[in-house]
Amino acid sequence: LCSIADKSELCSNSSFLNSSVPSYKNFSNIPWLETLNLDGYFSFDDIEHAAKDFGNRYHFQPSAVLYPKSVADISSTIKYIFDMGSTSEITVAARGHGHSVQGQAQAHRGIIINMESLQGTEMRIHMGETPYVDVSGGELWINVLHETGKYGLAPKSWTDYLHLTVGGTLSNAGISGQAFRHGPQINNVYQLEVITEAWYQAGSLSQLQHSVMESIILTGEMDQGIVLRVPKLSNDQEYLISSENSVDYIEGFVIINRTGLLNNWRTSFSPKDPLQASQFISDGRTLYCLEIAKYFNPDESDIMNQKTEELLSELSYIPSTLLMSEVSYVEFLDRVHVSETKLRIKGLWEVPHPWMNLLIPRSKISEFAQEVFGNIRSEGSNGPVLIYPVNKSKWNNRTSLITPAEDIFYIVAFLSSAAPSSTGKDGLQQILTQNQKILDFCSKANLGVKQYLPHYGKQEEWQAHFGTQWEVFVQRKSTYDPYAILAPGQRIFRRK
Ligand code: FAD
Repeated sequence: LCSIADKSELCSNSSFLNSSVPSYKNFSNIPWLETLNLDGYFSFDDIEHAAKDFGNRYHFQPSAVLYPKSVADISSTIKYIFDMGSTSEITVAARGHGHSVQGQAQAHRGIIINMESLQGTEMRIHMGETPYVDVSGGELWINVLHETGKYGLAPKSWTDYLHLTVGGTLSNAGISGQAFRHGPQINNVYQLEVITEAWYQAGSLSQLQHSVMESIILTGEMDQGIVLRVPKLSNDQEYLISSENSVDYIEGFVIINRTGLLNNWRTSFSPKDPLQASQFISDGRTLYCLEIAKYFNPDESDIMNQKTEELLSELSYIPSTLLMSEVSYVEFLDRVHVSETKLRIKGLWEVPHPWMNLLIPRSKISEFAQEVFGNIRSEGSNGPVLIYPVNKSKWNNRTSLITPAEDIFYIVAFLSSAAPSSTGKDGLQQILTQNQKILDFCSKANLGVKQYLPHYGKQEEWQAHFGTQWEVFVQRKSTYDPYAILAPGQRIFRRK
C-alpha cells in the first residue's frame, strides 16, 4: 500500500496537535472493528508504541493498530471507514518502520496499519532484460538488498539507511548518493499498488498489482574515498555529477569546529598517508568533506585503482586528508546500521531527533554556506550535516516531491540528535531555535529553498511549499481521498 500524492490532513489549528484526549482501549468504543472479517487482527496493546517515532518528539496515540495479513484486511478497514463518511472522524495512517521524525506515521485516535506485518509476503524477483523486484510496501530495504543480492541484482537508488520500509521511503522520495544519476527511489518504481478512498467510492476494490523496482547487476565490491577540501567541495561535486562514468555514489559532509577529525572518522577508513594525516589539524575550522564510492568486481581491482587515481588527480582536496576503504557492497549500503548498533548500546539512538532537510538551489549554495556554517552553526553541530548536489534533469518530475526551481540543487541535511533533558547547546530547544534561524535566513534572503520531508503547522505554509503545484495536489487529494481519511500525520488536510 502506498499512498503517495494523496496523504494528509490539514492542520491550521493547534488543538489538533494536542494529544491529551484519551484513546479507546478496546472494541467496546469502536465495536465495528470486531465485525470486520480479517486475516490479521486489531491490537490495543501497541498504541503507545504506535505513538512513537525516530524523531521522538510527537506522540499521538491511535485507537487501535491493525496488523494486516493481507491487502484485503487493509481495504476492508478503509472501506468500512469510507462508508461511514462524515459521520466518523476516524483517520488511518500506514506505519512502515516508524522512522519519521515528526509524527508523519501517527494518527491521533485513528487507526494505524502496521505495514510490516505484511512483510512475510514473498518477494518476487523478475529476471530478464529489465529485471525488477515485486515487494510488499511493508518490506525493509535491507531485506530487499539481501534477497535481490541472491540473484546478483540490486535496486539502483538507495537511502543512507536501509532499515526503513519500501512504502515509507517511497511516500517521501528516498534520496541518497546515487540520486544524482538514478533519481530518488520513487523514480525507480515501475508500478505501485495503491489503496485509496476513492476506489471505494467508484465501487471498485483494489486488485493487487505489483510494485517493482529497476535493478542493476550487483558488482562484488566497492571502493570509497574521502577527500577534504575547503572550499572547493561544490566544484568537485558538480564536476563528478556531470560526468557519466565518474563514480557511483556522491555525498558530502560539513565538519564544523571539531577536534581530531581524521582520528575520529569511521574506523574502517585508513588514511592514504598515515603520517601526514596524523599531523592534520582540524580544530576550529569548517571543513567540507567529499564522500565518493565506486563499485567494482574483485577481478577488476587493478584497473579500478588506476581509474580512482586518475579521478582523484582531478579533484582539489587536501592530499593528507584522503581516506580510503574497500568493503563489500552490502557493508557499504548498510553502513549506518553499524552506527545505530553503537548508539543503541550507549542509549543514544532513542533520543529526540530534530532533523531538518533542505534543498538549496545551486546558485545560492555559497550564500547559504557562508551564513549557516560560518555564522548560525559556527559553534558546531549536534550530528552529521550532509551536503551534496543532484541533477534534476535525471529525475522524473511527475511526483508530488517539491524541489527548487534550478536543475542542480543541493541536499543539506542537518541530522541532529538532542541530549535528553539538556538545556545547553545540545538540547532540543536550542537545536530547534537554530533550525528556525536557518529557515528564517533562507526565507529573508529569498534563496528559493524547499524542505525535504517537510512538516508545517499552517495551511499557508503548505501552500507556499507546493507553490504552483498546490492546486493539483489539492485536486488529487479530493479525488483519491475525499474525506481526508488517510495519512493524518502529515497534517496537510483536515478530516472531513
Ligand atoms: P514511516 O515513518 O513508518 O512512515 C513515513 C510516512 O509514510 C508516513 O506518512 C506513513 O503514513 C507513510 N507510509 C508508510 N508506509 C506506507 C505505505 N506502505 N503506504 C503508504 N504510506 C506509507 N530519507 C531519505 O530520503 N534518504 C536517506 O538517506 C534517509 N536516511 C535516513 C536515515 C535514518 C537513520 C532515518 C531514521 C531516516 C532516514 N531517512 C532518509 C528518512 C526516511 O526515508 C523517512 O523517514 C521514511 O519515511 C522512513 O520510513 P519508515 O518505513 O520508517 O516510514
